[in-house]
Amino acid sequence: MPGFELIDMQELEEIREIFDNGGVLFRHSFDDLRHGIYKVRTFEQAFAQKVGAKYALAVTSGTAALRVALATLGIGAGDEVITQSFTFVATVEAIIESRARPVVTEIDETLNMDPADLAAKITHRTRAIIPVHMLGVPARMDEIKRVAEERHIPVIEDTAWGCGGKYRGRSLGTLGALGTYSFDYAKAMTTGEGGMVVTSDTSLYQRAAAYHDHGHENNPAVPRWEDTRSGSGFNYRMSELQGAVGLAQLRKLERVLAAQRGHKKVLRDVISTIPGISFRQIPDGSEEAADALIFHVVDHVSARRVRDALVTAGVGTKILPEAIIWHFAGTWTHMPELVNSCGPDLSVAFPRSKDLLGRSVAIPVTVKMASDLPEKIKKSVQSVL
Ligand SMILES: *Cc1c(COP(=O)(O)O)cnc(C)c1O
Repeated sequence: MPGFELIDMQELEEIREIFDNGGVLFRHSFDDLRHGIYKVRTFEQAFAQKVGAKYALAVTSGTAALRVALATLGIGAGDEVITQSFTFVATVEAIIESRARPVVTEIDETLNMDPADLAAKITHRTRAIIPVHMLGVPARMDEIKRVAEERHIPVIEDTAWGCGGKYRGRSLGTLGALGTYSFDYAKAMTTGEGGMVVTSDTSLYQRAAAYHDHGHENNPAVPRWEDTRSGSGFNYRMSELQGAVGLAQLRKLERVLAAQRGHKKVLRDVISTIPGISFRQIPDGSEEAADALIFHVVDHVSARRVRDALVTAGVGTKILPEAIIWHFAGTWTHMPELVNSCGPDLSVAFPRSKDLLGRSVAIPVTVKMASDLPEKIKKSVQSVL
């Protein structure tokens, strides 16, 4: 959960440096006013280095990052883009906003994209695949990439919940053509609102950078007002204020991850002996971002009861089961494009996902965990099962 737990004077110091040096809040230009301070640019370089990508492009949100990634691949009307049933609405919103048709797969026991259902849902119109590392657990990227590569379809990793996690030694977000991250207030790093797109492909980076900046190519041979362009775009630029906060937050990421991984293990150990519980499957080779601990109970009624007991004890749950309507495509009847594509009755469109999610409970993992929390959780869960 967590970046926000560690916000302190370091973020303020980064911002103060902007104001001590001309107060330029725009990422480009004003070179003689800003005394060499370029917070967004510096944040991008540090982030790219951190995850091991050649390029990082800061944007206004994780949703914007997905939109930019889709535009970068040239996705538009008539194209199909495949994602998974368990994700935040934003993933499907970005596909719809790109005028493409959203196609949604079932999840498997990892609670991420089921590679077999992915293979079954590919058509000659499929132009991109967006697996999501939901709540900090990597999707089965080996299998997903095999399906994608056989058919030459690019992969965009929605790494909103996976920032800092790894799969077979590589940072989540760097395994496909493009990776996207969110720095909203609930994520492992936060800039209030913000996001990042990463890639190691120079031409994809150039297209992404131009698209997110009205088509500006930032051609060094001409001033910005005479800038060259080769395509239309939009404005998803990050401001210097967000870039400054991002720099301070990035320095804390390892601390966030280490604390969450440790706390997640403690929580898992304390409830693992309770009969009737099983845990979400973690793919081999995963280093989790450890945003949440997810376990399964026998049915939906028990999941709600566990949630009620946890709330009564002063402990919250995270997304499952209480916020399922924002995170399961089977409930998104408010999206006509999705209903057209996967419906007409979304409630029966993803039976396996519905069964798995319906009997899942997610406990938030935090950096500053109270010492009596594991015992409280154990007692609450035990009282129901
Ligand atoms: C948070 C989130 C997003 C969107 O990020 P914002 O920064 O809130 O726009 C996209 N996908 C997933 C899976 C998310 O959890």
